[in-house]
Order: sequence, then structure tokens, then C-alpha cells
Amino acid sequence: MTLIVHKYGGTSLGTAERIQAVAERVIETKKQGHQVVVVVSAMSGETNRLLSLAESVTKTPSPRELDVLLSTGEQVTIALLTMALKEKKCDAVSYTGGQVCIQTDSAHSKARITNIEVERVQKELQQGKVVVVAGFQGVDEHGNITTLGRGGSDTTAVAMATALNAKECRIYTDVDGVYTADPRIVKNAQRLSSLTYEEMLEMASLGSKVLQTRAVEFAGKYNINLRVLSSFEEGPGTLITKEDEIMEAALISGIAHNSDEAKLTVIGVPDKPGIASHILNPIAEANIEVDMIVQNVGLNNSTDFTFTVHRNDYGKAMLILKKTAKDINATDVIGDNKIVKISVVGVGMRSHAGVASTIFKALADKKINIKMISTSEIKVSVVIDEKYLESGVRTLHMAFGLGTE
Ligand code: ASP
Ligand code: MG
Repeated sequence: MTLIVHKYGGTSLGTAERIQAVAERVIETKKQGHQVVVVVSAMSGETNRLLSLAESVTKTPSPRELDVLLSTGEQVTIALLTMALKEKKCDAVSYTGGQVCIQTDSAHSKARITNIEVERVQKELQQGKVVVVAGFQGVDEHGNITTLGRGGSDTTAVAMATALNAKECRIYTDVDGVYTADPRIVKNAQRLSSLTYEEMLEMASLGSKVLQTRAVEFAGKYNINLRVLSSFEEGPGTLITKEDEIMEAALISGIAHNSDEAKLTVIGVPDKPGIASHILNPIAEANIEVDMIVQNVGLNNSTDFTFTVHRNDYGKAMLILKKTAKDINATDVIGDNKIVKISVVGVGMRSHAGVASTIFKALADKKINIKMISTSEIKVSVVIDEKYLESGVRTLHMAFGLGTE
């Protein structure tokens, strides 16, 4: 018998009616002859409510106790869904992460799964039960409750699918799949029927927040077929799988964007060995993540050094850089926190030249100035002024023929 893992996010479980609808969907899959494991998130808003409760007691909650608190959200939904299933005469049983031995490291609030013992779940499945497992949580080697980071239920679902050798891991959410661009910006964005793990990672890390990035990495590592579908309407959703499963990979799968970027430039940096590390080390030490890095060709033994960071880190990075600039005798530090990054993503571009030139021409025709460019095997990104975000995304979506019209 094949096993299917379902995962439901908070909005899919937000009310009693929605929980009933989820139960119906689970029963339907069971009726099709599959075994079903269901992984659930907390009800929508619940994790945030618990976080603010903690904050009302202390500004610095103990990481261990915060995880004890946050893990309760999912304990509520496993019980409610299991009750709903039983009420509909479907035999089911609920388990917390600890009860099914989802073993993690001890990094509270961002723990990683190290092992899952599946015997208990397998026994229940063999007895014909639906097994409902709390997402987002596990236990460390000392039995302390841990959580996996925001959106971590996706990772629980993929990990369960891997451990149980499931046929597919279905992530039911409030969108009906992954789109060629953000549908709020591009009206004729299309739902993709499939894309590769690598493409999904690029789309996810660039702000198409459908899935937790770690879940996609996990699925890619173990070749788990992941499907994103709507829990509110019927439809095939989007399958995320390995490249050779996709019949005819498109040249370009989608246009992703990230609107929370900022860039900083150190001007007049002495052009000598060790300078890049001198500039970036203090940034890394301050836990600031750096994305693009550009260094110019040196002229008269001096050069400019530019990099991008998350907009929230802009002020902090600027302070650090001003100090570094003095230390290394650079001329000045300038910055811009009103920038955005748009990326054209597709595994097909590996074998096609000309993607970059199509991008540059399309943006030039719209008089959109490109401030930075970076490329990888399956993506070309440009940094542009914030005010061109929407027109930039629409222009590139059109330039690569991703819409219907
Ligand atoms: N409830 C947790 C959160 O809101 C985990 C999840 O939803 O996946 O981040
Ligand atoms: Mg989620």
C-alpha cells in the first residue's frame, strides 16, 4: 500500500469548519487506497499569539521554555483534527513530535531533525489508522522539547515522508501552487505544473514564501516528490521534483523578487590582498547575511566594494562599515536601502545563452536602470530601484513569454 503525507498550514485549520474540511480531504485520500500521515501546523495566528504572550512576561524568554510554549499550538490541532476524523468514523490517532521520536539537535527555536523512529507510526498505519503528527516540533537527546523554526511544519512533513518512504508529500496551503511570478503583481501569472527543487529554492529564498526553504532542501536531498496544493479548492497544484522527472523543462520557470534589500558601498578601498575579508569579516561576526558582492576593477590602486544585505540589517551594517572604512583608509561609505532584487529563474538556462541579454534589453526598453547584476547556474538577478519593482517584474514576465496573452 502506498503512503501519502499531507501537511496543513494554519489557515487550513483556522476554524472548526476548516478542520472538518481537512478531515474530509484526508478521508478521501484514504478511500483511494492510500495510507495517510497528516502533519499539522498550529491554527493561524496561534504561534504569533504565543510569542507575544512570552514577550509580555519577559523580553528574554528562556529558549527552552519558549519551545515548550510554542509547541502547544500544534498539540491543539493534532487533537482537534483527530477528533474530527473519528467523528466521521475514520480511525485516527494523534502524536506530538516527541511521542513519535522526532529527534533533533538542541538548537532551540531552530532545531534540525537528526532522526525519526517510525515503528510506532508504522504500527498504527498497519492497523488502518490515519496518524496525525504535530509539525514544527521534536525532542533533543535529553528529552527537551525543541522547535524547528517558523514554517517548520513543512520540514516535519518532508522528514516524515522520507522516514516512511512515502510516495508523495502534499503541502496543502492557501494558494493553489507555485506561480511564474507573484500573482499580486502580475495578473496573468501562471500556475506551474512542475518545477525542480533547485528552482523552488531560488523562488522560495527570493520571497515566494510558499514553503520553508529547509523543507525543499530536505526533499531534494532525499528525492521526495513535494506537491503544493490549495486546501480550499480542487486542483493538481505544483509538483516539485527532480529534473529528470520533468518532461520538458521550460527555459525560464519564473520571475522571483525580493523587496527587502539594501546595498552598501565602500569607496576608495586600497586594492590589495585581504581587503575583502577585512570588510566582510566584521559583517559576518555581527550575524549579518550578505547576498551579492561586487568589487570593481582597481584604478590607481584603489577600488569600490559593494554588497547587499537584508534591509533590516542596513543600519547596523552601515555603522560597522564606517568603522572599517577608517581602519583601512577607504574614502567613504555610501548606501541605498530603497532597492529590490528581481531574479529570472530556470534550470533550462544552463543550456541557453542569451537570457541575460533578454533581461537587459527588456529593462532598458522600460528605462529601468540596473544597479547590480549577479548570475548563477539557474538564475540571473538584477538589483534595481524600489520604485520599479512592479514594472520590472511585469516586464521580465512578459519578456520571457510567461503569461497567457
Ligand atoms: N506554527 C509554526 C509557525 O507558525 C510552524 C508552522 O506553521 O509551520 O511558524
Ligand atoms: Mg507555513
